[in-house]
Amino acid sequence: MYPHLKAAELSHALLEKLIRPGQTVIDATAGKGHDTLFLAQQVQKEGKVYAFDVQEEALAYTRQLLAAHGLLEQTELIRDSHVFLRRYVQEPVSAAIYNLGYLPGGDKKIITAADTTLASLRECMELLAPGGVIAVVVYPGHPGGEQEAACVEAYLGNLAAPPWYVFSWKRVNHKVPAPYLLMVEKQNCR
Ligand code: SAH
Repeated sequence: MYPHLKAAELSHALLEKLIRPGQTVIDATAGKGHDTLFLAQQVQKEGKVYAFDVQEEALAYTRQLLAAHGLLEQTELIRDSHVFLRRYVQEPVSAAIYNLGYLPGGDKKIITAADTTLASLRECMELLAPGGVIAVVVYPGHPGGEQEAACVEAYLGNLAAPPWYVFSWKRVNHKVPAPYLLMVEKQNCR
C-alpha cells in the first residue's frame, strides 16, 4: 500500500525488530485484524496475542483473517474494552499496538476516546516488560480525534525518562491532520 512510510505500516517495521517468537503481546484495538495478524506472525505458535475490541464485527473480521493464515492458535480474541486488559493479561508483555479511531467501514460513532485510551495505556505500561514497546497510531482527522491525539501526546510526552522513552513519526506535508505514530519504550534493566 502507498505510501510505505504510513504510521500504521511503520509501527510494524519498527516492532518487527523487537518482537521475538514466544513472547506475549497485545493488540488493544483489533479493528480489521491487520495488527493482530502481524503480531501473531511475530510471536509464532509458542507466543500469545491478546486482541481486544468492543465490537463483535471487528472481532469477526479479525477471527476470519487469522483463521485464513492459520494463526488463531496463538491468539485470544476478547470482546471487552482495553481499559480492562489486566483482567485478561497477567504476564509481562513485550509489545502492544493501539490503532485508534473507528473501525474502517464500520460505525463511525464507535471510536476510541481520550479518557479510556489513557486509562488503558496506564494499565498496559504496568504490564510492559523492560525493553518492551507500545505503538500508538493516533488519528486527529475525525471529530474527537484531535482532542484524543492531543491528550495521548501530552500524557506520553510528560513521562519520565528513564524509564520511558517516547518517539513520534508524523507526515508533515499533509493538508488535513494526518494519522501519526507515537512509540513508548521502557528502559531495559541492563
Ligand atoms: N483508525 C484505524 C482503525 C482503528 S480500528 C484505521 O483507519 O485503520 C479501532 C477499533 O477500536 C474499532 O474496531 C473499535 O471498535 C475499537 N475500540 C473502540 N473503543 C475501544 C475500547 N475502549 N476498547 C477496545 N477497542 C475499542
